[in-house]
Amino acid sequence: MKIHEYQGKQILREFGVPVPRGIPAFTVDEAVNAAEQLGGPVWVVKAQIHAGGRGKGGGVKLARSIDEVRDLAGQMLGMQLVTHQTGPQGQTVRRLLIEDGADIRKEYYAGLVIDRAAQKVAVMASSEGGMDVEEVAASTPEKIHKVWVEPTEGLQDADALALCEKIGLPEASRKQGAQALQALYRAFWDKDASLAEINPLIVQGDGSVVALDAKFNFDDNALFRHDDIVAMRDLDEEDPAEIEASKYGLSYIQLDGNIACLVNGAGLAMATMDTIKLFGGEPANFLDVGGGATAEKVTAAFKIMLHNPQVKAILVNIFGGIMRCDVIAEGLIAASRAVALKVPLVVRMKGTNEDLGKRMLADSGLPIVSAETLAEAAQKVVSAAA
Ligand code: ADP
Ligand code: MG
Repeated sequence: MKIHEYQGKQILREFGVPVPRGIPAFTVDEAVNAAEQLGGPVWVVKAQIHAGGRGKGGGVKLARSIDEVRDLAGQMLGMQLVTHQTGPQGQTVRRLLIEDGADIRKEYYAGLVIDRAAQKVAVMASSEGGMDVEEVAASTPEKIHKVWVEPTEGLQDADALALCEKIGLPEASRKQGAQALQALYRAFWDKDASLAEINPLIVQGDGSVVALDAKFNFDDNALFRHDDIVAMRDLDEEDPAEIEASKYGLSYIQLDGNIACLVNGAGLAMATMDTIKLFGGEPANFLDVGGGATAEKVTAAFKIMLHNPQVKAILVNIFGGIMRCDVIAEGLIAASRAVALKVPLVVRMKGTNEDLGKRMLADSGLPIVSAETLAEAAQKVVSAAA
């Protein structure tokens, strides 16, 4: 799950990372009130969307008067902000952050991710702040410094200080920089984040260290123990098909191809997509129906998949372990009727009650193509979609 910058800064503030004073605003009037409350003399009006690169896209602007704040807020609210992370259609701006303008001496980068190979949190820092970190990693990887944190110990003073020294933080600001990194690490750990990024982390004219941006992603599997984070969810920023899917406990991610896939188990779903590509096809989605796929769940899955106008054929690939193939067959028949299916449907079922399931599909009178192996199923669905 992702959150907005102003929410991320609320978390940073809670954990002791210095951030500028700022107030979120949903309307022009709220933006003006916020600016009056902050008092100026310089404000920054920041579009809040779940994507980075807002600065370059025109979503971060300096204002030197209340009137300017009003004008900028009016321009930004409702605009389609296009950044390298939004795709060409952009994202509608519905919220703003009105913030004190900072006195930037230099911009640095700080980011935390889970390094699966090391089974630790990796803390990264760089002198190249404000830029795309992917670009820095590609062109000057030696400018990104890393420390892997021992989970039982947390980010140690010495390691945090060494990082600050390596990225060239002025000596007078190093202690505060190290404290900011340690606080960021604690926030990451306590809130079960999967990514946390401050880009830029700045040193101000007076030497103080401040986080000017805040990005957090959270592990969805840990959200059950973080009601405060769940309350920050903004459905406007999420794909409607994926929201609908999550209501039914389906993991759905839309892709660019034309072959819809309905599979039980994420691993099998990945293998199914690979096999479709092997035979020259392109998957239209990833869809894991999970364990207990009821007729209701399968119908919902069909509706969500078919909402995508690109879809030319459907491949259902089910391994009947705990789930029985006859139950799946029942669900498929009900779903095909409920949506008045018009695209070819290829089904491959293996496992418990497979014969019964296949017989039910054959007897249904529906034009369902069945397949024995995954390769055969993929070939059939690729030619059906062509
Ligand atoms: P994004 O990463 O989406 O472009 P940022 O929050 O990093 O958005 O802002 C982009 C740039 O705008 C920053 O690198 C910084 O130079 C400037 N900026 C952001 N917030 C402030 C602020 N409060 N005061 C002064 N400059 C700011
Ligand atoms: Mg940024």
